[in-house]
Amino acid sequence: MALKVAKFGGSSLADASCFRKVKAIVENDPAIQFVVPSAPGKRNPGDTKVTDLLYMTVEAARQDGDYRAIFARIRERYFGIIEDLGLNLDLTSELDNIEKNIRDGASSDYAASRGEYLNGLILADYLGFTFVDAAELICFHSSDGTYDDDTTQQWSRRLENMSRVVVPGFYGRRRNGGIKTFSRGGSDITGAIVARAVHADIYENWTDVNGFMMADPRIVENPKIIRTVSYAELRELSYMGATVLHEDSIFPVRRAKIPINVRNTNAPEEPGTMIVPDSFLKFYPREGVMTGVAGRRGFTVITLYKDNMHNEVGFGYRLLRVLERHNISFEHAPSGIDTMSLVISDVNLRDHLEEVLREIQEECNPNSIELQTNMALIATVGKGMVRSRGVAARLFNALYQAGVNIRMIDQGSSEMNIIVGVESADFEKALIAIYDAFKED
Ligand code: ASP
Repeated sequence: MALKVAKFGGSSLADASCFRKVKAIVENDPAIQFVVPSAPGKRNPGDTKVTDLLYMTVEAARQDGDYRAIFARIRERYFGIIEDLGLNLDLTSELDNIEKNIRDGASSDYAASRGEYLNGLILADYLGFTFVDAAELICFHSSDGTYDDDTTQQWSRRLENMSRVVVPGFYGRRRNGGIKTFSRGGSDITGAIVARAVHADIYENWTDVNGFMMADPRIVENPKIIRTVSYAELRELSYMGATVLHEDSIFPVRRAKIPINVRNTNAPEEPGTMIVPDSFLKFYPREGVMTGVAGRRGFTVITLYKDNMHNEVGFGYRLLRVLERHNISFEHAPSGIDTMSLVISDVNLRDHLEEVLREIQEECNPNSIELQTNMALIATVGKGMVRSRGVAARLFNALYQAGVNIRMIDQGSSEMNIIVGVESADFEKALIAIYDAFKED
């Protein structure tokens, strides 16, 4: 039977009714043998996440403020869940102990981690699963507090022969003892580490959306859900600003070639989005050539013209050396016979622009330098789209019909995206036009 690890985000475990949904999901699928919970999230837009309340408690204790009042809200949340679920579980001494530790100056990492720890205890009790503390599985270097993957792989091996286990998300411990958390949202990493440790077939990431959307819903109305996306496509889309799972947070499963399935706790009948290694793409259903479209504003293009540039050895080298001196990276470098352009994000260029232009003039001696500011880049991503006949024509036609002037085109060599540069003012219009052109495939 397939083996699954299911991570549930804070919005999926915000109160007792959420816990009931989680239990139904786990009980409906015997493949789910490992469950990784976040701390209780917001129950409504005005609510506060337990993790935030814990950080606030530490802050209040440090400033001699009324930390007890804040901690009382945390107690209330957990007691409320336990009572509503009718569990015979008493967390009073755990909570007293945590409050005392915070009062006595415990680190904010320790305090924040207790959100997941306590939720893990409750969920394990409710599901009838075994609780395994993440502090025994996930290791951070004592010296600088960075994540220690080698030791984690050794420690987490103990999960290998276990079943029906709950591991709280978000934290581990330093080799020499103290609790350490990942950055915010870090339960995703815990889930990925557990999935790798137990050689899961699928890592399910349960949240409150039906999956990743093909375009930003703030720009495109009601975009479709992506059924399948490869890890590489995901990277392109998130790099271009799509808010999807961050690559850093899933590297253990990416490396172990374990697919991720993003699912909705409130709509478990929806298949969600599958994120799969590139080599698995052929086994999964795909709709259309475009996987998604995403973009960002805030780029400048520097274009150099020079007669006979294509014969000049070292021209590109000298140009890029200028950037290196200023520690500036570039996004794209489209070139023609006698032209070469660099697309650079404004944030990187801002403070150096004048000097960079002066040095380019000195080093490369071009006939002219042209500067285009206020550019937006839009990546249309889809494995194989570069090879599919007619795709580029449809894309450019859609932009033409929408009255968008294309300032730059880059097809990349990855075979999976076509990037266009447009005026910032045209950004939304262009994105909608591209989405509309490919959505019905
Ligand atoms: N509870 C933590 C946070 O709010 C970690 C997580 O939810 O993944 O950031």
